[in-house]
Amino acid sequence: MKILVEKFGGTSVGSIDRIKAIAKKVIAAQERGYQEVVVVSAMGNTTDDLLSLAEQIATKPRHRELGMLLSTGEVISCSLLAMAIQALGKKAISLTGAQCGIVANGIHTDAKIENIDTTYLKKLLAQGEIVVVAGYQGKSGDDIAVLGRGGSDASAVALAAALQSEYCNIYTDVKGVFTADPRIVKNISLLHGISYEEMIELAASGAQVMMGRAVEIARKYGLKVKVSSSFEDSSGTVITKEDQLEKVVITGVAANKNVVIIDIFGIKVSSDITAKILHRIAEKQINIILMNSNNAGNQINNLSLVVKPEYVDDIIEILNWFNNESRIDHYQVKNDVAQVSIVGSGIANHYGVAYEMFDTLSKNGIEVLMTSTSEIKITALIPREKADLAVIKLHEKFELDNLQRNLMEKDGC
Ligand code: ASP
Ligand code: MG
Repeated sequence: MKILVEKFGGTSVGSIDRIKAIAKKVIAAQERGYQEVVVVSAMGNTTDDLLSLAEQIATKPRHRELGMLLSTGEVISCSLLAMAIQALGKKAISLTGAQCGIVANGIHTDAKIENIDTTYLKKLLAQGEIVVVAGYQGKSGDDIAVLGRGGSDASAVALAAALQSEYCNIYTDVKGVFTADPRIVKNISLLHGISYEEMIELAASGAQVMMGRAVEIARKYGLKVKVSSSFEDSSGTVITKEDQLEKVVITGVAANKNVVIIDIFGIKVSSDITAKILHRIAEKQINIILMNSNNAGNQINNLSLVVKPEYVDDIIEILNWFNNESRIDHYQVKNDVAQVSIVGSGIANHYGVAYEMFDTLSKNGIEVLMTSTSEIKITALIPREKADLAVIKLHEKFELDNLQRNLMEKDGC
């Protein structure tokens, strides 16, 4: 029997009525002949609510306790969904990530899945159970850890890979992946297909439809992922290999407002100290989103880092140490910035794309503070209050309102 892994996001299980509706959907898939594993997120805004409870108690609670707390949101939705399926007369069982054999290591609030022991899961499937798994979590040593925001996507994709599911269905509250955020741009296009690489870049650039790390897992295992709405019927978006898609230059534009720039000036004896600074940052398991380093002559380096705001305190602590040792001259933190990116697998083979992007930004009075390019992405750091304007103007410039990105051939997905 074929296995199918399906994941339902927070709004899809946001109320008792929604959970009852999802139970019917899950049973329908079982009736099409699948052994079903269902991964769920926490109901609605539960994770934010739990975070705010913690904040009322401590400004910097321990990651371990936060992980414990945050993992409970998904435990609520998975047990309720299992009950809803049982109430319709079918066999179902709920499991926490740890019970399901998911091992996740790293910071307790941003852990990464290391492996999955599927023994218990397979035994339950063989007994005809629909297995409902709490997403976003795993066992870390003797502890419980969560996977970082949006992490239920990673749970689902990793389970689908481990169980060799035909593909992984991600149900959310939008029809699929669009050329831009529907809340910012009016005339967006639904992409029928997008490559793993493009989706990873779009997620890193602020598109919230799917967690980038989950797409990395899918790419590693060549697993197709379909993103579609649990509220209405739509063909959705299939995330797959580039060669299975029609060619386009730009697939999307996204902005990430949740970033800060840290500029470090006058790093003495240049690259040696630069490496030491980066080493100390890596030791704290801080992820650097973007980095620019330039040599100012006389063995002096300047370095700019783009990171998530929650890491700024830790980095400042590191930089103060280097400052006290007279290894750097000074640093500054720029808070009011955003990262805007255009993404597309055609960027590498087309000239003029960067010119068109920067020309559009400058014509609209948008100052560029820092840039970075890769084969499939061009990013500009700009003032945060201009982020939406930049997205709208770039979407218009690259004519994404009318984009058709199709799969070369329809498959079973
Ligand atoms: N509930 C977690 C979050 O809100 C994980 C998820 O929804 O995927 O980030
Ligand atoms: Mg999500």
